[in-house]
Amino acid sequence: MQTDVVVIGAGAAGLMCAFTAAARGRRVLLIDHANKAGKKILMSGGGRCNFTNLYTEPANFLSGNPHFCKSALARYTQWDFIELVSRHGVPYHEKKLGQLFCDNKASDILAMLLDECEQAGVDLRLETAVQTIDKADGGYQLLTDAGPVTCQSLVIATGGLSIPTLGASGFGYQVARQFGHTVLPTRAGLVPFTITEPQLKSMCEALSGTSVEDCLVSCNGQTFRENILFTHRGLSGPAILQVSSYWEPGDAIEINLLPHLNLSEWLDEQCRERPNTELKTLLGELFTRKMAGLLAEHWFVSKPLKQYSANELIEIAEQLGCWRLVPAGTEGYRTAEVTLGGVDTKEVSSKTMESQKSPGLYFVGEVLDVTGHLGGFNFQWAWASGYAAAQYA
Ligand code: FAD
Repeated sequence: MQTDVVVIGAGAAGLMCAFTAAARGRRVLLIDHANKAGKKILMSGGGRCNFTNLYTEPANFLSGNPHFCKSALARYTQWDFIELVSRHGVPYHEKKLGQLFCDNKASDILAMLLDECEQAGVDLRLETAVQTIDKADGGYQLLTDAGPVTCQSLVIATGGLSIPTLGASGFGYQVARQFGHTVLPTRAGLVPFTITEPQLKSMCEALSGTSVEDCLVSCNGQTFRENILFTHRGLSGPAILQVSSYWEPGDAIEINLLPHLNLSEWLDEQCRERPNTELKTLLGELFTRKMAGLLAEHWFVSKPLKQYSANELIEIAEQLGCWRLVPAGTEGYRTAEVTLGGVDTKEVSSKTMESQKSPGLYFVGEVLDVTGHLGGFNFQWAWASGYAAAQYA
């Protein structure tokens, strides 16, 4: 079989790239080894797909080269995707912080992308693996489950390593290396932390399912203000997932559990106004009673406020405002939303996504060393990079 463009990976970036290139009049074959296209889209955003973010900016992305994402994000913006969603009549809403979700189901987004593929005439082949890729005259020759295929342009859209049960594989990195690319070390991002220190672990287990609204979580100079969630294995929730992308093994994280209060002033005030109130009772007004009880048990000796010295009150304020802990690790690719690292952007054109090592070869989406914050940014990168490559492939 001969075609103009082969896209490997029918996820977010691959679908966008395939129908955009086909709409330009290119013959496009879209291949995926899974039995369904866009499995991650279906799972995303708790089943409602946080498909973009109103406030998308290059600063929302991590990459060895922070400038790389700028061109593609500027040429296919969140407004372009919102226009597509609106044109298909997919109902959506802003949940918070510019995050746009489907009103109904994530499958609305997948159905929209598949509809675009069908209208543009994309040839989609599922359950099709690629055995070998070789350079051919003016293009590439692939040996696939569906037989040999030659093409002028080959787009790698196979994503990262997170959630192997959804079809993730290291295939894209393997292809990159085959054609002389550097693949930067990969690690799980947007992922819960595990905690093994016995006392803290037992507190997390006891509080599993409890979330604390509005915390400030910091790591390596990055701070996020959002909820945190205790889990059986450690800590999760949006603020924790965000800092996990900046965390390296051995690093400490700092959590301010009450950023809206000036804690030492507030404790002094409480001490003056109600000196006989126990610390546990006071904390119970700020957190759940169970959490207050556990904090009082693990961190402080609970007694009436008037019995604490000024220094002890300062220590309590510091503990609540700057809880410092060293996670044992992360839950890894099993639950991570994204993969950090990947194909080094220094060897890829930021305008076209084309390889600088092998003409006609393109990389789009998460396989590249570009990772978004939590909040719809990763899909926006998939749409923007897929669109950019489709203009040239
Ligand atoms: P993918 O969407 O992962 O697609 C890669 C495709 O390649 C898959 O279909 C896979 O089957 C195929 N493939 C892999 N290897 C091969 C091979 N060897 N041969 C053929 N095909 C292959 N981001 C957001 O912005 N908002 C969210 O709400 C959100 N929620 C998420 C929830 C979960 C549980 C997870 C895991 C991720 C979430 N993300 C979210 C991140 C987002 O899903 C990814 O960043 C995005 O899907 C990346 O797009 P991609 O096309 O590069 O890769």
